[in-house]
Amino acid sequence: MKSVLLKNEQKLLYGLANPLPVMEHFYTLQGEGVYSGNPAYFIRLAGCDVGCHWCDVKESWQYDETQMQEVEILAKTASESGTNIVVITGGEPSIYDLSLLTQACHRYGLRTHIETAGVHPLKGAFDWVCLSPKKFIPPLQDYYAIANELKIIVYNKSDFHWAEQHAAPCSDKTTLLLQAEWGQKEKMYPLITNYILQNPQWKLSLQTHKYLEIP
Ligand code: SF4
Repeated sequence: MKSVLLKNEQKLLYGLANPLPVMEHFYTLQGEGVYSGNPAYFIRLAGCDVGCHWCDVKESWQYDETQMQEVEILAKTASESGTNIVVITGGEPSIYDLSLLTQACHRYGLRTHIETAGVHPLKGAFDWVCLSPKKFIPPLQDYYAIANELKIIVYNKSDFHWAEQHAAPCSDKTTLLLQAEWGQKEKMYPLITNYILQNPQWKLSLQTHKYLEIP
């Protein structure tokens, strides 16, 4: 029987996590953000305690024992793809201590990127942190200083104000990105375009993989 977080796997929450619950892992192009267009190996971890109503990967929230995978095998498989970038996403990957996974990736010469809502302390060695805050649980303050990119999903007009609230505590080096929620893209991209023209510290992020119909 599945549950959002398996009771007998509570040790995964704050202990060194190996194996990890994996929803899927695959080689594709990074579709979003600063690294858009780069080949990357995605490891989508299962489990999320955020619960966005517009979530497009709700199937990642739950998992069972059959999905547990050894970090060494995941890193080796990623390295055999030919890319030098591993993107660890979810679900919400900050639930887990990713030290062993990121160490294994580094041993194989892979860059470690994470896409996170920043709701739990970051555990692991990351070369790129994409912070994508969600409204239901705000990010921990520590994430603003380490975010290489801040990716705000724009669902409605009020989200521009919300985006600025998250941009304010970020470092000057953080790339600020606005991306429409996929279901609202026709309505929101014209507004996002206008907003960026008037606020050029922001850049556009498109979900290019969805336009290309690739994973
Ligand atoms: S944090 Fe990500 S995986 Fe979790 S509910 Fe929100 S969009 Fe979905």
